[in-house]
Amino acid sequence: MECIVAGAGVVGLAVARALALAGREVIILEAADRIGSETSSRNSEVIHAGIYYPAGSLMARLCVEGRGLLYAYCQERGIPHRQCGKLIVATSQSELEQLPTIAAKAARNGVPDLRQISASQARSLEPALAATGALLSPSTGIVDSHAYMLSLLGDAEDAGAVLVCNSPVERGRVTHRGVVVDVGGAEPMSLGCRLFVNAAGLAAPKLARLIDGMPPALVPREYFAKGDYFSLVGKAPFSRLIYPVPVKGGLGIHLTLDLAGQARFGPDIEWVDKPHYDVDPAKAALFYAGVRRYFPDLKDGALLPAYSGIRPKIVPPEVANQDFLVQGPAVHGVPGLINLFGIESPGLTASLALAKLVAEG
Ligand SMILES: Cc1cc2nc3c(=O)[nH]c(=O)nc-3n(C[C@H](O)[C@H](O)[C@H](O)COP(=O)(O)OP(=O)(O)OC[C@H]3O[C@@H](n4cnc5c(N)ncnc54)[C@H](O)[C@@H]3O)c2cc1C
Repeated sequence: MECIVAGAGVVGLAVARALALAGREVIILEAADRIGSETSSRNSEVIHAGIYYPAGSLMARLCVEGRGLLYAYCQERGIPHRQCGKLIVATSQSELEQLPTIAAKAARNGVPDLRQISASQARSLEPALAATGALLSPSTGIVDSHAYMLSLLGDAEDAGAVLVCNSPVERGRVTHRGVVVDVGGAEPMSLGCRLFVNAAGLAAPKLARLIDGMPPALVPREYFAKGDYFSLVGKAPFSRLIYPVPVKGGLGIHLTLDLAGQARFGPDIEWVDKPHYDVDPAKAALFYAGVRRYFPDLKDGALLPAYSGIRPKIVPPEVANQDFLVQGPAVHGVPGLINLFGIESPGLTASLALAKLVAEG
């Protein structure tokens, strides 16, 4: 076998597609019984502009590149998406003072069209909004992530890739010819490949540690930052995405829309020891308080617990920023092994650019 990709989330699928389109033989091994059942189906489905990330980071570069690639891909393939735009909303004088810094960061990252608007301009765009000022990001949008993943899989399969579900990679070892992995499931087997891409999301560090020959000291420790969502009963009060000024570790409790026009709020941030997806209804109080800062007309009883996702962190809570870590032979010295660590937001937006980076080596 030439290439094995472990994990059929949006990133693993995009990587498998890129490798298959480059004429390489690819098998995708997925532990679950279907594609995209973890973080890739537990996110905000936002096509991010690339505003927040530190200049020069992989996140900044791949988000901006990936956004362009993703819009073009969605258009070409008829994947439901909408470039609805987004407002980053200040609700106090001190937040207002932060907007120029965010705008300058966005400009450095190559976000083309972000501009600051006044409180009254913001209200004329979104009458339900309370704000002291805002940034308008016209290039932000939303995408049907499931339709996108199915399309990636279709492309990969058309180019000869094979997806095998219920097939967790349990361990591996580095040999002189590449990587040999032991695959569990109903029919356990060992498979050898010249290129092994570890796209196991939350489990990527754990899987890397189980590869004999991968230097353990270079595998980052994993942390899990859970984010819960609450959905809004009734009609969405906004036509654009509404984000507060970012908070440490996340983007704040924002409002996103799905393509059917349903509004949801979240994600918050809660560091957990082990992944679990329960949404505590008691958190509603925090959500009401957070959301009412920019949407004061939110009625009691209008928020319902919805779903949650977990950010695959590789830095502890006290570290404000992390970057994507695409770790290949130049870093760890193991030929034929690429680990994808810490692929949190904007991983969906960046997926095609990440795939290009991996496939082009
Ligand atoms: C709350 C939240 C909101 C987000 N919002 C956005 C957003 O709006 N826009 C955006 O661009 N990004 C967003 N993201 C980020 C985005 O969702 C992720 O970057 C992306 O989904 C990661 O995809 P992945 O393929 O790396 O991981 P995953 O989707 O987690 O896929 C990993 C796959 O590997 C499989 N697997 C695990 N272990 C093994 C094994 N041993 N063998 C085989 N398979 C294995 C899993 O079953 C899973 O299917 C958000 C993330 C979170 C948590």
